[in-house]
Amino acid sequence: MHNMPVAIVSNRGASRWSNGHPWIYRSDVIQPPDAEAGSVLVLGPRDRPLGIALWSPASEISLRLVDRNPNAILDQSWWTHRIAGAIAHRSPLSEHTNAFRLVHAEGDGLPSLVVDRYDDWLVVQLSSAGLEQYRREIVQALIEVASPAGILARNDTAARKREGLPLETVVLHGSVPESITVREAGVSYTAAPWTGQKTGAFLDQRENRIHMGNLARGRALDCFGYHGSFALHVARQASRVTTIDISAPALDRARLNAELNGITNIHFVEANAFDWLRDAERNGEQFDTIILDPPAFARSRQALHGAVRGYREVNLRAMRLLAPGGLMFTASCSYHLTRPLFLQMLEGAAADSGRRIALREVRVQPLDHPEILTIPETGYLKGAVLEATD
Ligand code: SAH
Repeated sequence: MHNMPVAIVSNRGASRWSNGHPWIYRSDVIQPPDAEAGSVLVLGPRDRPLGIALWSPASEISLRLVDRNPNAILDQSWWTHRIAGAIAHRSPLSEHTNAFRLVHAEGDGLPSLVVDRYDDWLVVQLSSAGLEQYRREIVQALIEVASPAGILARNDTAARKREGLPLETVVLHGSVPESITVREAGVSYTAAPWTGQKTGAFLDQRENRIHMGNLARGRALDCFGYHGSFALHVARQASRVTTIDISAPALDRARLNAELNGITNIHFVEANAFDWLRDAERNGEQFDTIILDPPAFARSRQALHGAVRGYREVNLRAMRLLAPGGLMFTASCSYHLTRPLFLQMLEGAAADSGRRIALREVRVQPLDHPEILTIPETGYLKGAVLEATD
């Protein structure tokens, strides 16, 4: 065995790994490594070697499993191989888009690393101190495997603060433009890697956008429309789409996206969706297709209670606007609102709406955002297709 720094963990820490979760918390580390952030050999009770982890001295999440082989060495070829494996898994997606997630952190066995591809460019997020030690190897692996024209680090995540890492947005390779045109199943939109939400766009809703584009018809409503990416798909089959967002800059970009596609049947409204939905109900408006993709109302467990009320309110108001036979796609990207709680919230909203609402589909994350059953933190986005059957 190599002379790597060693961490000794408790039985409870060891059982986290045997139950399929890569994190060991500080409270389960009996003897922390006498070392800076980086990779360490992890020993369980009776000095049993458990594997190699990334070590974060300042974080509550002390150890993140990267390799169950205690003899593994995280050299260049290790990183290149692991990253190449994740990228290969995405190959079916390149048939219908040039933008997708190449690495979904723990979901791909690469804890705290996110890599999104936008056409020829990559946007990365390195969100732990242990991972930061391998920045050079990660960049080199991405250059070898994906040959990007540029790599941007959007290292502005809250997780970095908890790790004691500085926030920054910097180019790590080549150059990266302000906006990049994304192709998505016959629709184009521009992503904003430097300034957009997340790494520049909501890639996680891609399959839901395409799906709803195929189901859409009649009068359509897109609430919380952001850059219009649902509306663009829906507008191909619906007669008219109303897109609501509270942010004027988001709607400006949505307008440009509509122009880019030569789409003229989207009507943009800057409004608070809660107020707008209430007014629309009062005015007796009805829609055949509704998209409801709100921001994460629950950013913490403490905020969950209030968030459920918010979700329930927008959902029930949207349900009331459904024309008979109308379809609605509703989503939540709050990690704390689990799938059972999401469905329970929809039941409550349906009861309050006074409508007879059928659950047609429960939608899960796409293949480039793998939700690992033993790692709840890899899952956050859930959705449902509902139909008004009364
Ligand atoms: N559907 C989009 C992502 C939506 S992100 C996509 O797939 O690309 C959430 C959006 O909700 C943001 O654009 C934000 O500006 C908007 N928003 C937040 N609170 C709002 C409110 N109360 N009313 C209307 N829009 C709101």
